[in-house]
Formats: sequence, structure tokens, C-alpha cells
Amino acid sequence: MNWITNFVRPKLQAIVGKKEVPDNLWETCPKCSQMLLRKELVSNQYVCKHCDYHFRISSKERLELFLGKSFMIMDTPKIKPDPLKFKDSKKYIDRLKNAQKKNQTNDSVIVASGTINGKKIVTAIFDFNFMGGSMGMAAGEAIITACDFAKKNHLPLIIFSSSGGARMQEGILSLMQMPRTVIAINALGKLNLPFISVLTDPTTGGVSASFAMLGDIIIAEKDATIGFAGSRVIEDTIKEKLPQNFQKSEYLMERGMIDLVVHRKDLKKKIEDLLDFLVV
Ligand SMILES: [Zn+2]
Repeated sequence: MNWITNFVRPKLQAIVGKKEVPDNLWETCPKCSQMLLRKELVSNQYVCKHCDYHFRISSKERLELFLGKSFMIMDTPKIKPDPLKFKDSKKYIDRLKNAQKKNQTNDSVIVASGTINGKKIVTAIFDFNFMGGSMGMAAGEAIITACDFAKKNHLPLIIFSSSGGARMQEGILSLMQMPRTVIAINALGKLNLPFISVLTDPTTGGVSASFAMLGDIIIAEKDATIGFAGSRVIEDTIKEKLPQNFQKSEYLMERGMIDLVVHRKDLKKKIEDLLDFLVV
């Protein structure tokens, strides 16, 4: 028995009153391991002040950074959950319900309309916290809803991707979202409506292999991992060591795969400037 925790601390707490300390007051930077005050981190747009690491953020946090407080989250079509009755170590329907409860969203993508710099836009945002930002039927429907809204209202579309790829629990139905979203994006191009694709950490698998790489302008956040298969899988396949910054934004820009690498703090301004140029 530890007499300090079991005896002294309760006595002291009884005297001074128990103080509730929120357990999310501090965050640890995954890159440099420095402790960061959460309040400071939020005001710094979730970027580490010591090493410039860009934290992965939820779709709602992203939406607020991008559109402030004035946006309208749009309804997306309801889909039949768990069409294949999939089960691995756990039932897919249970995983889905847990993710919905944890993230307070229906699925991995939210769609919203709003205004930046006086211009109306529509945006779709992936949330990596929601089952790895995986693209199943609901995410596909969300992207198509955003495209249809852009077409109907003649608006530019901005998609923030953050995804591990297809949602394997939905099998072929998940893979079908790749051509569906590509067709929807191509339809925007035919109407000369701009599509800005913003790739954030990480954008991989079926998302990077479909609409995310079809932006009229493709922007990546600093130091984001972007690719199709993971680097370990590629190394095992080709039996070669890959460069250290392989699949990083900067590496891809040097090789012409993306147009811009932008620091999160400059992202909104950069998109505003691009829209000034693209939208008449
Ligand atoms: Zn750091």
C-alpha cells in the first residue's frame, strides 16, 4: 500500500477540494515529443510550434479552419449500412457504430457549403479518425453530393482528402466508389468548374488512385504522406531501399505529381488566391 496515494492525497483533496483537471489539456507532438498546451496548439492551427509538425485533424476542425463559423453542413444520401454483413474479429456494423459515436459524424466524409473571401464554395472533407478515412458507399455518396451541388449552383469544389483508401468491409461496393467519384469530378470539368484537391496526411489507396489526383490544382500540406501502397509493401516487392522522403509531399512536387506544397497556416490564403484566378 502506498500511503501517499491512499492516505495523504485523499486527506489533502478533502481539505482543498477535488480539482477536475481535464485530461486533454496537453498534447504530445508525435514528431518531436514536445508537450504542447492544447489551447496553444488549436490557436496555432494544430501545428507544432517546435518542429512544424502538422497534426492530423478531424473534419470538423478542418471545416472551422477553412470556413470559420459560417458554413452549412449538407445532408448526404442515407445508404444501407453493412450491405455484406461483414465480420472479421468484430462485426463491421459494430465498428461503424463505434466510429459514429466517437466522431459524432455519420461517416468519414462531411460536405459543407460556405463562403471564402466573398466567394461561395462547396467542400468535402475526409476524417482520418473515422475508420482511417476509408471510402465506402457513404463517402462516395458524399463526394457525389458535393459535385452535384457544385454543378447545380455553379460553384468551385474543394476536397480535403485524408484517407487510408477503400473500406475493405464493403468489398467491391467500396471499390466502385473510385469510378463513380471520377465520373462526378469529370462532369465538373466539362462545365469549367474548378476542383481544388487538397491532400493532407495521409492520402493513400483508393482515394489517391481516384478523384484526389484529378484536381485542376493539387495542393498537399507540408510533409504529408501521399501514395498508393505503403512504402514497406513496395520495398518488399521491388527488393530495394526507398529514399527517406519517398511519398512525402515535397518529394512528389519535385517529380511533378502535385502542384503545390503549402504550410497549413498559408492554405486558406492560397486557396483564396487560386479561386480569384480560377473563378470569374
Ligand atoms: Zn513537434
